[in-house]
Amino acid sequence: MEKYALVIIDISRRGLDRPFSYLVPDNLRDRVRAGSIVMVPFGKGNTLRKGYVAGFSDSTDVPAEKIKEIAETVEPARGYTLEDDSEFYLRLAAWMKNRYGSTMATAMRTVLASRKTGTIRERRQIRLLTDREEAARHLEVYEKKHQTARARLLRELLDAPVLPWSLVTERLHVSASAVNALKRAGIIEVEKVQELRNPVHVSPSTQTGMELSPAQRRIVETVIADFDRMQKAGEGAAPGEEPAPPVSLIHGVTGSGKTEVYISIIRGICARGRQAIMLIPEISLTFQTLMRFYSHFGDRVSVVNSSLSEAERADQWERARRGEIDVIIGPRSALFTPFAKPGVIVIDEEHEHSYKNESMPKYQTREVAEQIARMHGAVLVLGSATPSLESYWRAQQGEIRLFRLQERLTGGTLPRVETVDMRAELQRGNKSMLSASLYEKIEDRLRRGQQSMLFINRRGYAGFVSCRSCGFVAKCPHCDVSLSLHGNGRLVCHYCGYERSAFRTCPECGSRYVLAMRAGTEKIEDALRETFPTARILRMDADTTRRKGSYEKILSAFSSEEADILLGTQMIVKGHDFPGVTLVGILMADLSLYGDDYRAAERTFQLLTQAAGRAGRGTEAGDVVIQTYQPDHYAIRHAANQDYEGFYREEIAYRRLLRYPPVAHMMAVQIQSEEEDAALRAANEIRLVLMKKNRAGLQIIGPSEGSYRKLRGLFRFVIYLKSEKYDTLISCKDLIEEMEAADRRPGGGLFRQTEVQFDFDPVNTF
Ligand code: ADP
Ligand code: ZN
Ligand code: ZN
Repeated sequence: MEKYALVIIDISRRGLDRPFSYLVPDNLRDRVRAGSIVMVPFGKGNTLRKGYVAGFSDSTDVPAEKIKEIAETVEPARGYTLEDDSEFYLRLAAWMKNRYGSTMATAMRTVLASRKTGTIRERRQIRLLTDREEAARHLEVYEKKHQTARARLLRELLDAPVLPWSLVTERLHVSASAVNALKRAGIIEVEKVQELRNPVHVSPSTQTGMELSPAQRRIVETVIADFDRMQKAGEGAAPGEEPAPPVSLIHGVTGSGKTEVYISIIRGICARGRQAIMLIPEISLTFQTLMRFYSHFGDRVSVVNSSLSEAERADQWERARRGEIDVIIGPRSALFTPFAKPGVIVIDEEHEHSYKNESMPKYQTREVAEQIARMHGAVLVLGSATPSLESYWRAQQGEIRLFRLQERLTGGTLPRVETVDMRAELQRGNKSMLSASLYEKIEDRLRRGQQSMLFINRRGYAGFVSCRSCGFVAKCPHCDVSLSLHGNGRLVCHYCGYERSAFRTCPECGSRYVLAMRAGTEKIEDALRETFPTARILRMDADTTRRKGSYEKILSAFSSEEADILLGTQMIVKGHDFPGVTLVGILMADLSLYGDDYRAAERTFQLLTQAAGRAGRGTEAGDVVIQTYQPDHYAIRHAANQDYEGFYREEIAYRRLLRYPPVAHMMAVQIQSEEEDAALRAANEIRLVLMKKNRAGLQIIGPSEGSYRKLRGLFRFVIYLKSEKYDTLISCKDLIEEMEAADRRPGGGLFRQTEVQFDFDPVNTF
């Protein structure tokens, strides 16, 4: 073994983001490998710091008397063995650092998320005590008494006699008092379990595999065949030389059988001795979906989500490492589950924005998943009812496979969709927020005892200005995104910084109704109560869900039909099925169109399509009313027709015209400092250096102020770069990193007071 270990110190500062040489003492020789976590003395005081071994060398520039020794290796608790996979994580971190621009230390921390250990804590679970017949008798009584929560719990327990507490209260929406009632009646007990807790105990196949439809079977067979071919092709490939993994996109509405396909693919891969990572955005992971996986894979599946404590999460990683499970279900971070050799990664709802990590490294889960698949020789499967433009574009280019699932298998007819032009309502003298049609329909549902959902689309909303009489919206002439109204009364573009004074009258129609849209859910709730005094109304938004568990409480109250109307923001359109809902009203459908970024139309289409899909899940056909000032906008038109293809064609034309992703790539260089002057000077300096390099096809926009000029005490500036070639952007990033690193050495200055971050193909504006 070479004499010196090259150690990356776990401090995220670019000036320190290089390997430092350390001697490996004899007693640690056997344990220090590439990727090992070690403690080393660092700096003047020789404080012990955590570090990652990046490699080894026989020589060093450091004078012999100055070289220090590694103090110890960090044995992650509970018998983790580092040797087997540490090199893998090192390579993955290096890939992320290069692609997204972060320090090596931060990248290591991200990919080693699973190495965190927590203290051992106990977990509660609920066990059915009675036999099935007695339980069924109790169930009957609860149903008669309309004690729906108790009945729901008992019904699940009849399927699976032991359920984790957290799943019951959070996913099944059963309150603690309902659980206690069953406990007092002697029907269940609440017990505590310890150590490497398995969130569920269900024996496999209470549900035997159903027969797949021909369309489903074709997908499963193709993906598995891809996998098998891939194994042959990848045999003996050197690290870094592995062939690109097969990627498939399943485009199918909710209820078209995607989950069933995922399960079959995962079965096939597990039968080949490999493991599966199943990513689902936390907000869409329903209890029913979880139970389907449990009933197929029993104890071999586990779930990680934010309701687990750190210790419980660490247990799941540990079970994965020990090979006790084959399938992990979870959000973004489950990607880093330390499986021996995953064979498939599935990303459900692949268009969801929660798949973009918004702290350094600002990675896109799809891309990292593909890289992991490449390194492990795995396949990647994406699924969505409204695929991201990125994925659909790649499918059109022939880079990835596209499958369609067209029918809804859940039954239920597609809803009738009506688009209401709110400008016409205004002309008729209706100044309220409800159109005549929506008003009538709500009243009708109240009379018939059916439920309605009212969705206020405020996503991406950033104080845009529009005309209520003709629908005109103030946009940037250069970037074609909405201008935002700032506190000083000016209209500003968040990409290029273009600025103008506010309009007093509409430049299109002369009306004086040019206003900044304000959409408070609370105000709307008040107005609704006034209009429908007898209706039982629930509101769900950031304010009413701040307390832990309140989100679940509202959903559970609505699903047990304790309210007539659920009013809320985008939170209410995800995942959950309410068969009692026969009307969905979309208020201010346009609001998200005026987001200050290029994804505004895509976001709107996705939200409206999802929201419309909430209606008519039960036996009755549903109604959807879309209220808008721009009925002709393509995002609204195609959403009303549930026409993804139509939307895609118009949207991709817009992206092509303005060189936005996926047609081109974009990099946001985000510059922050406590000193406004320093941030601006750094930004200008960066622009200058980039201009000098003058790369072909590179477009440099800005610097401009961030959409928040100042946030958490820091002044913010941003430069946007566009190029058809991702590599061009990477080389610009490298250049900026070099500037910064050089500046941090003695004699530098400007970058010492500033922090520079990178965001590739950004999802949110800075
Ligand atoms: P998605 O994931 O696209 O929403 P699911 O896989 O959940 O769709 O399927 C929707 C419903 O149809 C589920 O209740 C599922 O059990 C059922 N289902 C799926 N595939 C089949 C099939 N081949 N035969 C019968 N029912 C099916
Ligand atoms: Zn107008
Ligand atoms: Zn602009």
